[in-house]
Amino acid sequence: MRLVFLGTGGAWPTKKRNVSSTAVIFRDKVILVDCGEGTQRQIHWSNFSFMKISHVLITHFHTDHFLGLFGLMESMYLNERKRPLEIIGPPGLSWLTDSLCELGMIKKTFPLKVTEVNDGGILDIEGASVSAFVNSHGVRSLGYVIKENQRKGKFNREKAMELGIPEGPLFGKLQQGEDITVDETVILPEMVMGSPRSGRKLVFSGDTHLCGELVKQAVGADVLVHEATYGEDMRDKADEYKHSTARLAAEAARDAGVRHLILTHISPRYDDPEQLIQEAREIFEKATIAEDLMEVTVPYRDSGNDISIIAPVGFDQ
Ligand SMILES: [Zn+2]
Ligand SMILES: [Zn+2]
Repeated sequence: MRLVFLGTGGAWPTKKRNVSSTAVIFRDKVILVDCGEGTQRQIHWSNFSFMKISHVLITHFHTDHFLGLFGLMESMYLNERKRPLEIIGPPGLSWLTDSLCELGMIKKTFPLKVTEVNDGGILDIEGASVSAFVNSHGVRSLGYVIKENQRKGKFNREKAMELGIPEGPLFGKLQQGEDITVDETVILPEMVMGSPRSGRKLVFSGDTHLCGELVKQAVGADVLVHEATYGEDMRDKADEYKHSTARLAAEAARDAGVRHLILTHISPRYDDPEQLIQEAREIFEKATIAEDLMEVTVPYRDSGNDISIIAPVGFDQ
């Protein structure tokens, strides 16, 4: 499971930061969370194809979060896409896409599914589920949770040998959940399999002020991608415009007990984000400020490997 930060700025694009979009790469799927203007050009700097995008999750209809979607779809059409595309977002999304279809701006040459959502479970993709929750941004606005399904427990080889199971296909049967019989004794999978292991969990705050629901949803997350539009110097603006400061994002990460916090949606006024990272780390040490084209790989907790952050390469700012 990998995240590619395509746009990490809030409000308007700057030389350093494009507006909001993050790609989640999981198995053969690419899920985009938001698609601000210019996202498709950012994708060309990354190492996946825009044709691989299977789902787009829109958090809300402020322009820095969705204006890039229709240009991206046009490029898919021009490249003769045939695979379906599913777009998910708050109420109003169907009106928007229907209107653009009517104007001929969206060409229905590949199957397009549009799903409006308030909150709750939305979809199951192979190996994971996606759900939405209402955040606190003063407009219809959502955060998203992408949760990988539980994995099977570990096979206890030593225990299997102790039980006299001969090495070979019978091991595989037990791992597949089948009972086997050895010397007229029935052996059940649970006798040699550990308990199921949790999958990975990613949570996207969307644009939000303090939000109790977000903290609830983020409990146990591997990565919380949280907006940090402002520093504490602009706390009054954060309160007024329903955004977060880096400190508020860090408090949410601490309260939810997440593994790693990534701060994004940085206001153009913070050319150097040092202040924001310091303010966040006073509260929550495992915090990183996203940069455009930064990649994050998320290994399983039980692998013993840390979340790794790869700084952008080959991107001439
Ligand atoms: Zn925004
Ligand atoms: Zn917004």
